[in-house]
Amino acid sequence: MAAGVLVVTEIALGKPVAPVYELLGLAGRLAAGTSGKVEAALLGRGIEGCASDLIARGAERVYLADEGALADYEPERWVARLVRIARESGPAAILLPHTTLGADLAPRLAFRLDTAVAAGCVEIARDSGRLLFTRPCYGGSFRETLSMRTAPAVATVRGGCHEAAARDPRRKGEVVRVEASTAEPAPRMNVVARERTVSDGMRLEEARVVVAGGRGLEGADGFVLLAELAQALGGAVGASRVPCDLGWCPHSMQIGLTGKTVAPEVYIAVGISGAGHHMAGCGNAGNIIAINTDREAAIYGQARWGLVGDYRQVIPPLIAAIREIHATARKSE
Ligand SMILES: Cc1cc2nc3c(=O)[nH]c(=O)nc-3n(C[C@H](O)[C@H](O)[C@H](O)COP(=O)(O)OP(=O)(O)OC[C@H]3O[C@@H](n4cnc5c(N)ncnc54)[C@H](O)[C@@H]3O)c2cc1C
Repeated sequence: MAAGVLVVTEIALGKPVAPVYELLGLAGRLAAGTSGKVEAALLGRGIEGCASDLIARGAERVYLADEGALADYEPERWVARLVRIARESGPAAILLPHTTLGADLAPRLAFRLDTAVAAGCVEIARDSGRLLFTRPCYGGSFRETLSMRTAPAVATVRGGCHEAAARDPRRKGEVVRVEASTAEPAPRMNVVARERTVSDGMRLEEARVVVAGGRGLEGADGFVLLAELAQALGGAVGASRVPCDLGWCPHSMQIGLTGKTVAPEVYIAVGISGAGHHMAGCGNAGNIIAINTDREAAIYGQARWGLVGDYRQVIPPLIAAIREIHATARKSE
């Protein structure tokens, strides 16, 4: 029976995104004590250098497809190449980060492999040779555990749920090049333009501090203040679904069940009530700080600290105090 685990690598700013290291850690635990290998699929352009990084994080074999046609994520090209890699690797499971790319790619890949997919898992465990996939369901109110009748199982895994694989540059691994082939169907669509919606280079999923705004901001202007606070703290700005739906900020900022999953050290929820759908995306944060006018808001049940009050009055003195701390620290250097 297949026991290996294949991790699909997502690259941003020239290196694997943090959830990939968490998947390698998880894959190592799932493959431990079995005959299966931890393997990684690495697609893109100019990414060959990332192979040694994946090996240092525990990949025993890296399937590398480094070419111009794969430079940007294009589902048809990526799926075609990943199907060939999956057939060669023959894993028990294929894991992808539960990011926009992973959530788009996983069901397509599962369909092509004629297998099943579990999206948004928070845990995967091995039980007497069977893999069990746990994920939130019913809007985050319950968790369900699935086992698959088909193989390989395809799953996306939420970030911040697993320990990242430690980096050990002494680890050895094999790099297998998977070149383009006429066996791959020609893509039926062309991407004609691509636009970045987040320009500051800080990925929400990787920020150590996230300042997120909700309906309580009462308009797009509130996000200007949040950006100032995030900048003072060296963090990134996120949002609940409401401001995204209302057009106050882009959907790329949405955190929650149907948005991004973040697990920063500090999560500052401003004007966010703390609905289960939202908390599904930030519940693993190290410390949640709530700023809300309503002291009965559900968010206070989850927050370590809370500031009850109007964010317009609470945040400016907070920014001033943080800046003063920075200035004092600089003077004493
Ligand atoms: C299938 C499904 C999926 C969903 N997925 C997501 C998701 O991924 N992410 C997500 O966030 N939501 C999601 N939702 C929506 C979710 O259920 C909630 O409706 C949403 O999270 C509420 O957003 P909010 O907290 O910003 O707004 P509200 O619940 O309206 O809360 C606003 C808060 O702001 C406070 N407030 C008001 N004025 C101020 C002020 N001046 N200063 C400080 N505080 C103030 C209020 O006291 C209140 O607590 C989903 C819903 C469904 C049905």
